[in-house]
This record gives sequence, structure tokens and C-alpha cells, in this order.
Amino acid sequence: MAQTSYSFFKEVCDFVDYASKYTDQPKGLIDQIKQCNSIYRMNFPVRIKAGKFEVFEAYRVQHSHHKTPVKGGIRYSLSVNEDEVKALAALMTFKCALVNVPFGGAKGGIKIDPKKYDIGLLERITRRYTSELIRKNFIGPAIDVPAPDYGTGAREMAWIADTYMAFNPQEVNGLGCVTGKPLSQSGIRGRTEATGRGVYFGIREAVNIFEDMVKLDLNPGLPGKRIIVQGLGNVGYYSAKFLQEDGAIIIGIAEYDGGVYDPKGIDVEELQKHRQETGSILNFKDAKNISDPAELLEYECDILIPAALENQITIQNAKNIKAKIIAEAANGPTSAKAEKVLLDKGVFIIPDLYLNSGGVVVSYFEWLKNISHVSFGKITKRYNELNNQRLVEAMESTSDTNLERKLRAQLIKGAGEYELVNSGLEDIMIKAYEEINSVMKSKELKDLRTSAFINSINKICVSYLEMGIFP
Ligand code: NAD
Repeated sequence: MAQTSYSFFKEVCDFVDYASKYTDQPKGLIDQIKQCNSIYRMNFPVRIKAGKFEVFEAYRVQHSHHKTPVKGGIRYSLSVNEDEVKALAALMTFKCALVNVPFGGAKGGIKIDPKKYDIGLLERITRRYTSELIRKNFIGPAIDVPAPDYGTGAREMAWIADTYMAFNPQEVNGLGCVTGKPLSQSGIRGRTEATGRGVYFGIREAVNIFEDMVKLDLNPGLPGKRIIVQGLGNVGYYSAKFLQEDGAIIIGIAEYDGGVYDPKGIDVEELQKHRQETGSILNFKDAKNISDPAELLEYECDILIPAALENQITIQNAKNIKAKIIAEAANGPTSAKAEKVLLDKGVFIIPDLYLNSGGVVVSYFEWLKNISHVSFGKITKRYNELNNQRLVEAMESTSDTNLERKLRAQLIKGAGEYELVNSGLEDIMIKAYEEINSVMKSKELKDLRTSAFINSINKICVSYLEMGIFP
């Protein structure tokens, strides 16, 4: 593959350097928190068929151990390389700090095109990768906890958990070695859609701030906002779905093989069904096909959501971007040079560090569930319902009226795992937005990314300084 001078990891480090100027933290500590503490680059063979083997290149990078375990997704893509995995691991550290999830950052990946392999082979490759991680002590509920990322999902996480448990049957908390597992394998309700739901909460918070929307010549609030999404995978699909359910209009969706555009709005659920039936999002109802998906990024819209891969908005296309808000659902979709052009044009960027943190927040809830061996709400739900029922009955008898049936049921219902996970996620996303917005305004910064990095750097430095640096 042709080498380019672009380094995703360098861009992350440059951001840390830039943001740290707005902090009083010692330079030596900033130098430490930029480094990746442990990098494991591996090659392993897998038998593809009788007598035929293929060697795979894979990585696991642990960026920071100021909190343990470290945590971050596993990516299956041909673009996986050491620089990318290091950058994504570093972003995880800052992301966890930003939303007060007590983990250090990590990331992993296998350089493969998962579409080229059948399920049986993908399982063999995943299990072999996991056994390499076990061999070097790079996985475990107290050590390093992977999760899904681009090209992986609940299925791969279940294989990872099963392989880990086969090697560590005595470990009572073993299932906390990976998150994003299917529900039947000790996953948690709400994890699959968590990143997209967090993206929705984050965008909702941003567009509800009156003075920021006035500056962009937009009305506050989500209803009616015209949105284009790049990538209809896990994050893109759920982001679009929740935004549409709250009144936004999804006018364009880009996939790797082309895009669809309809200014009247695209029904996300129906498009997803169409894709499952035909294998592509193209040729959907009245929507116009766009043969080059990158073109859609330059269409007029209120909010552009890159939800595919990094380095999609670059110095080449930044000047043509017409969106007023870029909501970074993917990791690193905007290059540093492109960001400068966009900020100069007055584009408002909701940074990845904040916006796609919903996945790790709910992964944290899943890990808590796994190590406490009980699901949220299991012990309290019925007790709360009985209490609520007594309150409703007391209200009805003192006012001598009967509440309408639906309202009565809503008031009595106790919170189960799904409700608690979603409300915990919503609370964290709202608070984190308040924090970065207030730092941006109090320091008179031009952008939310710098304020997000300032917040995270300060929290990580406090962690290091308070625990003391060994020896
Ligand atoms: P995914 O594999 O489920 O979906 C990615 C989608 O993007 C796929 O449908 C793919 O076909 C499409 N795509 C690829 N190249 C494209 C292109 N050039 N134009 C348009 N579409 C293209 O992956 P995902 O889990 O949704 O991850 C997407 C991004 O979100 C990544 O940057 C990932 O790091 C980030 N992220 C994911 C999570 C998570 O919980 N899954 C959490 C945080 C961040």
C-alpha cells in the first residue's frame, strides 16, 4: 500500500500539545500521556482450507494505564496499521476521561477485509487473535477489555469471551474480559445501539443551545434539521434512526458502494430493510443514486455525520463542505488541516472524543454487570413498582379520581436494565456536553475539540499526580 505522510497518531498528539497550552500541567506529564505504553504487533497463521494457510497482521495497543483495565474496540479492516491503532487507543484514553469512565485507553485490529471470509473462517481468525492476546496477557477483566469497532460486532465479542473462558475457566469475573457481547452471552441491553444513541443525545444537546444555533443561522432544536450520514453501519444506522425518530430529516446516506439522496427525507428503517433484501442501499424508492459516495459529503445540509472511518473530511474536500455542523460519529473523520479550513468557515464541529463515547459508556455498564454478576434493576424493579403503586393509589384515593390507564401504568413501572442503561447514558452525555461547552465559552475557544481535550488532559493529569508516579 502506498505510504502517505498522513499520521493519525501524530494528529492526536498535536491536538494534545495544542490543548495542553490552555492547562497548567507539567510538560513531562503531557509527554507521558501522549505515549502509547504497550504496543503488541503480531502475525499469526490460520488454515484457510486443507493445506492452505494465510498469515494475518494484527495489533493491540494499550495507550494509558493511569486507570485499569484499559479499554477499546477491535477493528477488522484492510486499513488497520500500527499508526491507526495507536491513534485510536490514544483517543480512547481521552474519551474515557471526558465521560468519567474509569478506564485507560486501548485499541486493537486485524488487517483483513471481513467481507472476504465466511463465518467459520472469521471465527477461527478471531479465536486465534484472542489466544495471542491471552498468551501475552493483553486481555482480561482487570487488564484489557476489548469491544466492537469497525468491522466487528456482538458475534465476534462472543467468540472472544468464549475463547478467553476456555483458557481461564477458574476466573469468576472472566466474562468481563470483553464488552459488546450478545445478551445471551452476558451482554447488556442497549449496548448494540449505545454509540448511535449517544450520538443522538450529543447532537440534541448541541442544537438546543440557542446562542450557538443563532450564530449558525439555524433554529434551535432537532425537528426539521436536514442531515446527511456517511456509513450505515452500527453507529451510522442507529444515529440516523434516533435522530429521525426525534424529528430530524435524513436527506442523504452514503455507503462504500454509493449513496442515496432525497431532500424529502429517507426512511432509515425502510432503507435498512431494502439493504438487507438487495445487498445495497442503492435504488431505494424515489431517492437519487449517487455513484461516488464521497460526493454526498459536499451536499447542502444542516448536519453532516461522518460515521464510517477516519480521514474522510480532508484538505481536498473541506472547502466544498456545505454543512453547518459536522457531528463526528466516527473516530478521526476530520483531518487537522481540514478542521482549520472548516473552523475558519464557521462550521461547528462536535468532536468524536465526546460524540461517539456512548459505546464505551455502556460498555462500562456491561463490565460492571459482569463483575457484579447481576443485571441493573434486577433487585430493585419490583420493589420500586410496589412503592409506586402505593403512591398512585394514595393519590387516587385522596383526590377521589382514577388516573387514566396508560398514565397509571407509566407511573407505576419500575426501571429495568434497558431503562437504567439508557438514562445513565443520557445523563453522562448531557453532563459531558455541559462541561465541554462551558470550558469552550469560559476560555473563549473557537472549538469544542480543544475544550474536550483540555478537560480530559486535566483529569488524566490529576489521576497521575494523585496516585504518584512510581517509584
Ligand atoms: P461498521 O463496520 O458497523 O460500519 C461502518 C460502515 O461504513 C459500513 O456499513 C461500511 O460499509 C461503511 N463505509 C465504509 N467505507 C465507506 C465510505 N467510504 N463511504 C461510506 N460508507 C463507508 O462500523 P461502526 O462500528 O459503525 O464504526 C464506524 C465508526 O464509528 C468507526 O470510526 C469506529 O471507530 C467508530 N466507533 C464505533 C463504535 C461502536 O460502538 N461500534 C464506538 C465508537 C466509535
